[in-house]
Amino acid sequence: MSPQLERMKAIVAQVITQAQRDSIDLRLATVHLIVYGNFSSEQTRNLFAEASRNTDAEGLSIVTERAGSRYICWNCCGLRFEGEDAMCSNCGETAMELPEKIDFALSRVEVATTTQPHDG
Ligand SMILES: [Zn+2]
Repeated sequence: MSPQLERMKAIVAQVITQAQRDSIDLRLATVHLIVYGNFSSEQTRNLFAEASRNTDAEGLSIVTERAGSRYICWNCCGLRFEGEDAMCSNCGETAMELPEKIDFALSRVEVATTTQPHDG
């Protein structure tokens, strides 16, 4: 099993635990995942599908939220920042991208509010 799949299985377990604790009907829930760095949303969805197979979380709706990359600037004072581009806001030089230790993380489990369209 790849470390990523293992990590995703832990997230699936977390989703199920959280749903039980908060009495969330998983069939109505949406799972929000944060995706870091170069890991793609598609990879994340595929991993979730694989990791949740034969569990209560199988077939859940997934929303992926992309997090910016993290950088550290060695040109000025070692400023660390997060963002879409590598330019240091302090000195304007190109900062070095920090390698991500994790590819994705659970953001939250949200129950889809069933908003029936009606005009009052
Ligand atoms: Zn700088």
